[in-house]
Amino acid sequence: MSTETDIYFNQAAETTSQDELKSLQNEKLIRIVRYATENNPYFAELYKKAGVDVGDFRGIEDLAKLPTISKANFRETYPMGMCCVPKNTIREMHMSSGSTGTPVVMPYTQADLAQWAECMARCYRMAGGEPGDPIQIMPSFGLFNGGFGMYHGARAAELFVIPTGSGNTERQIRLARDFNTKIFAAVISYATRIIEVMDKMGVELPNLKTGVFGAEAVTDAMKAKIRARLGIDVFNIYGMTETGGVGTLGMDCRDHSGIHVWEDHYYLEVLDPTTREPVPDGEIGELVVTALTREALPVIRFRTGDLTRILTRERCACGRTHLKIDAISGRVDDMLIVKGVNFFPSQVEQALLELPGVHPDYQIILEERDGVNDVRILVEAEPGVSGFVVEKHLKERLGFSPKGDVLPPGTLPRSEGKAVRVVRKKI
Ligand code: ADP
Ligand code: ZN
Repeated sequence: MSTETDIYFNQAAETTSQDELKSLQNEKLIRIVRYATENNPYFAELYKKAGVDVGDFRGIEDLAKLPTISKANFRETYPMGMCCVPKNTIREMHMSSGSTGTPVVMPYTQADLAQWAECMARCYRMAGGEPGDPIQIMPSFGLFNGGFGMYHGARAAELFVIPTGSGNTERQIRLARDFNTKIFAAVISYATRIIEVMDKMGVELPNLKTGVFGAEAVTDAMKAKIRARLGIDVFNIYGMTETGGVGTLGMDCRDHSGIHVWEDHYYLEVLDPTTREPVPDGEIGELVVTALTREALPVIRFRTGDLTRILTRERCACGRTHLKIDAISGRVDDMLIVKGVNFFPSQVEQALLELPGVHPDYQIILEERDGVNDVRILVEAEPGVSGFVVEKHLKERLGFSPKGDVLPPGTLPRSEGKAVRVVRKKI
């Protein structure tokens, strides 16, 4: 449980009252909508077509009048048609890892890089990272925003950066021992790979205190496994290429009662994915984000595809005032429908990890035969765990009967980036 001893990167900004945040957001919303239309005809045209007079735009109360945008707008304007600054002021770019197949390019000005670093640095402090703490950054350094985002933030937070990048797990573990690494920053499924290799090597990492993990849905069961085996506190960091990368949106604090979203930089809406009407706080819907402070490409009403809900707008035990959302349960387009039952891969993971002896690597094979989906779930487990037990448990938890195939640990393919959980096959 967190207390007033919590440390902040930017205490004033992180503890601004909700009332003040609301009025700040309103001002910034008006500013950013004008800015986008004045600096890029694409936005001017978009709003004109929707019949919105930007001169009359009064902020939060008028926001729903603006059309939403999605990855389709990025595709349509590839590579940088939505950019709002002269090209010679761009200092860096990142591109989505392609897990949904659409090229999304995010350009950054110097100010955008500073904004990213600030958001990330707040997350590191929130996870207990103090100046000089060794941090191993394990996502790849490249177009994927994970490696560099974690790097920019770590520099701002004055951590001791060990930029290992992805892969070579044995070396990662040796370096963590040699340099007394305190923080691991990685894609969540990589944590399970580290555990697997540590077990094989028969080593422990007693100096490791914290894991800053993200990029994929993080179930409570997975967090509990990592916490128990590594003896560390596990944080769930959230962000995406379109909002400016990892950590831009926020992370949970040591209270672990939801993800704080940096409201001085982002305005959130949660909409019903079908009707696009707002849902009340507490109800699950699609998260729609407006970037209030970015220069090169500020997304306005971006439909993230991510499903979550607003948990609370009350001041948190950690002292922060920024609202908290639930861990992302899945993406709108990840939802699987089998025999009339809707479910998300994260529900399969949660169910599997409730079974003793089952390992965290799994794959959902969707077999489509004449338009009908059948589902087979491949799991890795210790000898003695039978397919029958797995099938029975999944039936109880998911409400239908997938086939469960049990494989020896280490059989399924491992990925260095985001894990591939769903494989579609046509028969
Ligand atoms: P791509 O879209 O190619 O996967 P991104 O890095 O932009 O590349 O991915 C952003 C997406 O990753 C988010 O929209 C979300 O679906 C997922 N994601 C990122 N962080 C988390 C997290 N902490 N929990 C769940 N999903 C996450
Ligand atoms: Zn908190």
